[in-house]
Amino acid sequence: MALFNRTRSTDGRKREIVRLGHPVLRVVADEVPKERFGTRALRDLGRDLVRTMFEDNGMGLAAPQIAVPLRVFAYYVPGDDDEDEIPPRVVVNPRLTLQGDADALGWEGCLSVPGLRGLVARHARLVLEGFDVEGGPVRAEAEGLHARVIQHETDHLDGIVFVDRMQGMGSLMFEEEWEKYSTQKDLPVES
Ligand SMILES: [Zn+2]
Repeated sequence: MALFNRTRSTDGRKREIVRLGHPVLRVVADEVPKERFGTRALRDLGRDLVRTMFEDNGMGLAAPQIAVPLRVFAYYVPGDDDEDEIPPRVVVNPRLTLQGDADALGWEGCLSVPGLRGLVARHARLVLEGFDVEGGPVRAEAEGLHARVIQHETDHLDGIVFVDRMQGMGSLMFEEEWEKYSTQKDLPVES
């Protein structure tokens, strides 16, 4: 997902982000086999995802977005009045337990669909389970923006982009026009 006006550097390498139209964004990514946990390749992938996410002002980036068809994503949720900051985290082979209906409407953007925003209904709460790059367990209860980012990134592992989740194209906007004209800015947004 796209975030604005925020950069942070980490170690790791900045990778090229592929855009909508690249076939890797439309395939179901592979689980990371257990024997690859703790390897240099998986650690590097995690670091590169975090670095690239921050360099491009994102709050989430999935491995298929850098043309790696594996079930890995990085995310970060900036804190504000309503939400605690979630420090950058890399999740491998995530499993989501979604709670309630997918009826929480909010604005999304995507580093692979640059410049656009649209309204997407998501589950307001979920439980995320998976692994870190070393194979240690990751578990998080998430709600609000945190839950939205996790659903957006997990979709990338299944070849789904946010525009597929829009109930209609009526809310699709360029970011500049969103700033100028959107009358629904009170909805959750990722900036
Ligand atoms: Zn995305």
